[in-house]
Amino acid sequence: MKKQNDYYYDARQFASILKQAEFSGKISIGKFFLPGKKGVSDSIQYNQAGLDILDNLHGYTFPIQDGELQVSLQLYENVNNHYRLFCYTKIDKKQGMTFSVNLTTEKESDNVIYLTQKLKFAEQYQGSSQLAQAHRRQKQIVFCDLLKKLGFDVTENSDLILGIFDPVEKQLVNTSIDKFLNDFIVVSILKGHFQGNKGYQLEILPTYNKLDYIFTGKDEGIADLPLKLVANKSKRAIPLGLRYKVLKKDAFKCVACGRSVNDGVKLQIDHKIPFSLGGLTELNNLQTLCNECNLSKSNRFID
Ligand SMILES: [Zn+2]
Repeated sequence: MKKQNDYYYDARQFASILKQAEFSGKISIGKFFLPGKKGVSDSIQYNQAGLDILDNLHGYTFPIQDGELQVSLQLYENVNNHYRLFCYTKIDKKQGMTFSVNLTTEKESDNVIYLTQKLKFAEQYQGSSQLAQAHRRQKQIVFCDLLKKLGFDVTENSDLILGIFDPVEKQLVNTSIDKFLNDFIVVSILKGHFQGNKGYQLEILPTYNKLDYIFTGKDEGIADLPLKLVANKSKRAIPLGLRYKVLKKDAFKCVACGRSVNDGVKLQIDHKIPFSLGGLTELNNLQTLCNECNLSKSNRFID
């Protein structure tokens, strides 16, 4: 019998689904494909050797530049029964942890697990701390925007939502396991490309520049620029627990086209009346859209 708040049980359910997944390693990034293959030739950094709940089952190798980018997914118990899925990358002699997602169990919402992580950058810059903060925030904005254009679910608070897993039904409710693996690896690889310090760049993407011309080149007056952009966004962000409720209300189907994850789409949560037009972040103003309908809706607003 499942106990309430049994994080160990929930995480193991997710791990067992991941272990059973037969993902080929060919990944799609928007309209591009990276012809990866299953398996790695080297073992990639284990910070807790032997404790990987995935038993090293998810290693993939991608051709990149003149070499090979090796990727290893590893799932660890973090602290206090919290779990996190990590992506390690290695190219030549350079290796490191590129990206991770938390397994966040929402007690208020049927104990479903949200696979989510805030997208942010932590690298150091020369100059004042305000300038460094501005660069990191700007990079975050560009990265979040790129992911949204690629059809990812990124909130106004820069939280990436990669999946929602129901440990009782033992399934992802808003995406498929193959799409989840694809997306997790894609975000990890793109993050590494953007960080630039993991030793690789993807040829299909432009190299990220700091766009220094946005700033005056001087420190004065730039400190408040990135902070203004984060202000007053919190009410627009849809709380995690509410997301599952919206999916359930809409019977896990896109309200526009009627498709579900079984039809090959991902499901996302959308404001019916846009927040910018006064729409509230509450159950009756939220709806389920698939990634395709959501993208064409946002394009309509942009156009
Ligand atoms: Zn749809």
